[in-house]
Amino acid sequence: MNLHEYQAKKILAKFNLPVLNGNSYKLKLDNLEEDLENLKGPPWVVKSQIHAGGRGAGYFKNSFNNKGGVQVINTKSEVLEIASSMMGNTLVTKQTGPSGKKVNQIFIEEGCNIDREFYLSLLIDRNRSQLMLMISSAGGVDIEEIAEHSPEKIHNIYFDDYKKIQLPNSLEKKLNLSSDQFNELNDISSKLAHAFISLDADTIEINPLVLNVGGNFILLDAKISIDDNALFRHPELENLKDISEEDPLELEAFENDMNYVKLNGSIGCMVNGAGLAMATMDIIKQFGQEPANFLDLGGTANKERAIKGFKIIQSDTNVRSVLINIFGGIIHCDMIANGIVEAVKELNFKLPIVVRFQGTNSSLGRDIINKSSLGLTSLDDFTEAAKKVVELAK
Ligand code: ADP
Ligand code: MG
Repeated sequence: MNLHEYQAKKILAKFNLPVLNGNSYKLKLDNLEEDLENLKGPPWVVKSQIHAGGRGAGYFKNSFNNKGGVQVINTKSEVLEIASSMMGNTLVTKQTGPSGKKVNQIFIEEGCNIDREFYLSLLIDRNRSQLMLMISSAGGVDIEEIAEHSPEKIHNIYFDDYKKIQLPNSLEKKLNLSSDQFNELNDISSKLAHAFISLDADTIEINPLVLNVGGNFILLDAKISIDDNALFRHPELENLKDISEEDPLELEAFENDMNYVKLNGSIGCMVNGAGLAMATMDIIKQFGQEPANFLDLGGTANKERAIKGFKIIQSDTNVRSVLINIFGGIIHCDMIANGIVEAVKELNFKLPIVVRFQGTNSSLGRDIINKSSLGLTSLDDFTEAAKKVVELAK
């Protein structure tokens, strides 16, 4: 789950990290001019809140001043004017794709006199199973750009123990910092690591982390992504989810405890277990087609969930045939078979379906499919099933 910048900053402030004061607005800009009394300024910075980076360098579909989604403004009346033009407008950035994203929320923040911009992020290096901190003196631009043009400016630092965050002393010189600033950077890194672990984050990205003209560090942008699988441990975060930013099909699957990722192919997949779902996608590709989705019904899949899964696949207009691949362990294939038959009837599902059952009650399941007289194909062999579904998609 991704958080908006203003949400991330509010949270990071609780971890005593240096962020600037600001106010956020959703759909309406009530009391904006009065609210500015509480913020230092001018200037103020009007920031579009969307789940995509590159806002500053982006452009609005409904263009009003040829500037991007982050604008530094000097008068109160202009703050209101610019914020009004942004609210409801569609912002296109490098990360949104050409269709852009609608701005439903605005953050208005105190302006900062920037001296230098750094890049800092925390993530898990999955190969090393370690917390990794990435820092660069070339902040403010995409990390991909830094990686391409000045990879020597990116420093990756690994930690075994998130409670002992100590940056290597050599960084002080490499980043051209005073020793006070280096200590401050160490303190910020420790607090960020603490936040990362406490929140069950999978990424925290501060770009830019700036030194202001007074020589102090400030987190000027903040991106936090929370591990969805740990959300149950954070009821306090769940209402921060902005459903307008989610793919509606993925959202529906999430609400029904299924793991769904929409892809661009034409073969719908409904599988139990993530490993089998990956293998199913692989074999479809091997026979020359692309999967329309990843869908893991989960280890405790039941009939109702199978029906929901069908509905989600049916909503994807790219799908031309469907492969259902179920390994009966705790779940029983006959139960899933009944769910499939019920769903096909209820949804009047017309696309060709290939069903493969293995494991608990697979032969009972097969019988149900074969006797359903709904034109479903039942095949026991994985390869044969994959070949068939690919052929049916044509
Ligand atoms: P994005 O990364 O989506 O473009 P940022 O929040 O990083 O959005 O803002 C883009 C740039 O705008 C920053 O690199 C910084 O130079 C400037 N900026 C952002 N917030 C402020 C602020 N409060 N005061 C001054 N400049 C800012
Ligand atoms: Mg940024």
